[in-house]
Amino acid sequence: MEINKDTKLMDILKQYPWLEDEVIKLDESLAVIKTPFGKMMAKKLTVSKACEMANIDMQEAMNMLNAMIEKHEHITSVKQNNNIELNQDNERKTIMEKYVCTACGYVYDPELGDPDSGIQPGTAFEDIPEDWVCPLCGVSKDMFEKVSE
Ligand SMILES: [Zn+2]
Repeated sequence: MEINKDTKLMDILKQYPWLEDEVIKLDESLAVIKTPFGKMMAKKLTVSKACEMANIDMQEAMNMLNAMIEKHEHITSVKQNNNIELNQDNERKTIMEKYVCTACGYVYDPELGDPDSGIQPGTAFEDIPEDWVCPLCGVSKDMFEKVSE
């Protein structure tokens, strides 16, 4: 949303509800926008009118608003990206768990597989054929336990 001098305060706050708290941090007197009276005023007040009343330089106020919005949107998008990466990590972990042989301590790593026994890298332990045995000591699959990290 592009903010200009004729944008109504209410429309800005509707679009960016978090801005209310940011604005109040700038100057306590601005807490008035939280009150019913302030909300009523905000419906009618444009940016230019509000600046005139508060005796603030309009260009400065608009630059500040736009900068705050830009910063907030940047933070939000970074957060979202982090969440996506986190989810992908979790998924990979649940699919690709390591298993340890309780007899000899050999660890089956799904990323490596067990190519000598025909298990391709990337094979989850659950997908290994039941007749597969520990490549080190030869015990069967049911002797393996999930590695808890
Ligand atoms: Zn073993």
